[in-house]
Amino acid sequence: MSATPRIAVIGAGLGGAAAASLLIQEGFDVHVYEQAPVFSRQGAGIHVGPNVMKILRRIGIEDALNEQGSHPESWHSRHWETGDILAQIPLGDYAVKEYGASYLTVHRGDFHALLIDALPDGALTYGKLLTKVEDLGNEVRMHFADGTVAHADIVIGADGVNSRIREELLGPEPPKYAGYLAHRAVFTTPPTKAGMLPFDPCVKWWSDDRHMMTYFVTAKADELYYVTGVPVEQWDLKDRWLPSSKEEMRDAFRGWHPTVQALIDATVEVTKWSLLERDPLPLWSRGRLVLLGDACHPMKPHMAQGAAMAIEDAAMLVRCFKEVGAEHHELAFGLYEANRAERASKVQRISHDNTWLRTNEDPAWCFGYDVFSVPLVDPQPK
Ligand code: FAD
Repeated sequence: MSATPRIAVIGAGLGGAAAASLLIQEGFDVHVYEQAPVFSRQGAGIHVGPNVMKILRRIGIEDALNEQGSHPESWHSRHWETGDILAQIPLGDYAVKEYGASYLTVHRGDFHALLIDALPDGALTYGKLLTKVEDLGNEVRMHFADGTVAHADIVIGADGVNSRIREELLGPEPPKYAGYLAHRAVFTTPPTKAGMLPFDPCVKWWSDDRHMMTYFVTAKADELYYVTGVPVEQWDLKDRWLPSSKEEMRDAFRGWHPTVQALIDATVEVTKWSLLERDPLPLWSRGRLVLLGDACHPMKPHMAQGAAMAIEDAAMLVRCFKEVGAEHHELAFGLYEANRAERASKVQRISHDNTWLRTNEDPAWCFGYDVFSVPLVDPQPK
């Protein structure tokens, strides 16, 4: 191991970019390898809860995100047909006071761009698809599709649901299709019409077998987003997403409230995404390799906490490196898993069941979590 361990992060998604920023802040020697040639602003929104905002504060992008995002006063759950309120969860100022930071909804591309821009020049290389990784004992050798090879002392697999690093640790196994598709569309906020409710800044419409979540993705409330969960039995895993259409949306949401129909009418472009899961993994690390985010606990997005878990993982991993020293990487990885697995598995389970905030419940355990101050637990002896 070099004097200052060289840390490679595979994947510059939300989890990998956050991990790299936090590590660089702590003085580590970090390089990020991302397979994509470039990132674009794809049509999707994302919730960013106070549990994540506290980490973004440390990265230095909390204020910028607060300026970009929408700050809903509450989360509403509504009945699919009548629009009756099933639950109203206070957010807005209440979230700042009770959970220590704001609750935002924002365009995913804008959020990702802020995280990427927070990285120092030269820390990230695009177009680097990791094809093979070899833990040589004293260092790790990484092979990329462009024929290049790089070396590091520690490799963090932040490479998403089809993680190459997970495969190295546990063998090839495709993720499980969860039996649901998510339609996603971002479009200009349409005017409200007679018979409709005004657009709630953050609302989930529920029937027994499907839902539609809607929220603004800008502070100006000029762009709206919806994301659905619709049961569809079969899906070919070779496609992560496919184009969808207004007609398909009308079929899936026939008879739903006029406000939902207005959202479908206003749709310009809609895509449908397969929802993928894995059972909790038997290990999160081995030797010099460690996983975070969707690479180790992909989940249905029904709690809107998948990226949140990836970013919390990143912050906890950095905390554990500081706690025991990155040169003791296996100790740090054990401490990290001991302090993340239970929470990530709980969020994965509730996301699977799709019960989160359907009725009034206290979300403090999730939103109030502070990864920097939560007391650490020791790993169980193996
Ligand atoms: P990813 O974001 O998947 O990033 C992985 C990165 O690794 C990618 O950039 C990829 O190109 C790169 N990569 C992959 N393989 C390689 C390789 N071999 N070599 C180099 N690079 C590689 N989460 C929330 O918190 N809130 C929400 O509101 C929310 N809504 C969602 C809605 C939908 C429909 C879906 C599908 C998910 C949603 N999520 C949400 C979940 C969230 O998107 C994921 O949990 C999150 O993106 C995981 O981040 P990650 O960094 O672990 O992985």
